[in-house]
Amino acid sequence: MTDLALYIHWPFCKSKCPYCDFNSHVRERIEEGRWRNALLAELGHYAAMTPGRTVTSIFFGGGTPSLMSAETVAAVLDRVAALWRRDPGVEITLEANPSSVEAARFRDFRAAGVNRVSLGVQALDDDALEFLGRAHDQAEALDALDVARRTFERFSFDLIYARPGQTVAAWRAELDRALGLAGEHLSVYQLTIEPGTAFATAHARGDFALPDEETQAALYETTQERLSEAGLPAYEISNHARPGAECRHNLAYWRYRDYVGVGPGAHGRLTLEGRKVATRQRRAPETWIDAVERQGHGTEETAILTPDEVREERLMMGLRLAEGIMLDAPLEPARLDPLIEGGFLTLDGDRLKATPAGRQRLNAVLARLID
Ligand code: SF4
Repeated sequence: MTDLALYIHWPFCKSKCPYCDFNSHVRERIEEGRWRNALLAELGHYAAMTPGRTVTSIFFGGGTPSLMSAETVAAVLDRVAALWRRDPGVEITLEANPSSVEAARFRDFRAAGVNRVSLGVQALDDDALEFLGRAHDQAEALDALDVARRTFERFSFDLIYARPGQTVAAWRAELDRALGLAGEHLSVYQLTIEPGTAFATAHARGDFALPDEETQAALYETTQERLSEAGLPAYEISNHARPGAECRHNLAYWRYRDYVGVGPGAHGRLTLEGRKVATRQRRAPETWIDAVERQGHGTEETAILTPDEVREERLMMGLRLAEGIMLDAPLEPARLDPLIEGGFLTLDGDRLKATPAGRQRLNAVLARLID
């Protein structure tokens, strides 16, 4: 195991979207130099634990990492190059909001070394964007996509479906428009109500309702069908790409490869002395940065995973992928067989895969398989 993926978390956003339960925060003022130094320090901490590794992907996520300055992105990438060997084809992704302010920085991000951008477009409909609490409108998103296409070798964008009142016909038309704008990768997420979000409160109050289960299933199936026909099949529950254009960084998670997570709330999985180790950084931005300034890292927990935990995590991650996983030990037939007979899993030799129906309700499938 020599390959390593690196995740860098930038926890700040301009405003908090009502559906979002990510570790993202709004602050009036950010001392960017201080934040830059802290990220660099934590990279050094993890580099000391992972000598001799080759970095194959770097992912700036958040939060809204496109609010970072290009100098900070460049400083992080320079430090990574100084600390580890970098694969010549290293994939360097930055998540960005499609606002004009951020699009204006794309060339600088490119010059800093970013070669892939993932844009949070979310909808090609102004009413839907307003409902989702997004700061951009459709026209701005289209402009940002245009700049992204001209600036980066690879780009992707996100859409959210199963919005209140959305019909299959309207979603099909929106997907067709998205396909006209897409490169080789699209991420398509189903709207879910996450506890603790503004949407959770509004939904409980009855301010809006999500489409019923039948409509949700039809919207999911439409997504699978339409994007497959267009040559962008699902390679993961919510991610679609032309074969070969998958996000290599996210594949590292789902294939259960090693990754370092730096920044507030970031998680990592590292194979150290033959054992899989889970790492977790302090979640609150201020607590994290204080810890880094005090001790060189903001790690809250480092845990050696048991063989059972490793097996469960491999299944949870691998079954998200259309390619499935190679089983290293047989599963109990009493658990497995009904899921195969029900059309949720397939077993081909030692390769276990979730069918599209299985991937759509993966949590329920996993609960039957491993709980
Ligand atoms: S921009 Fe992204 S990370 Fe920030 S609040 Fe909105 S959805 Fe969450």
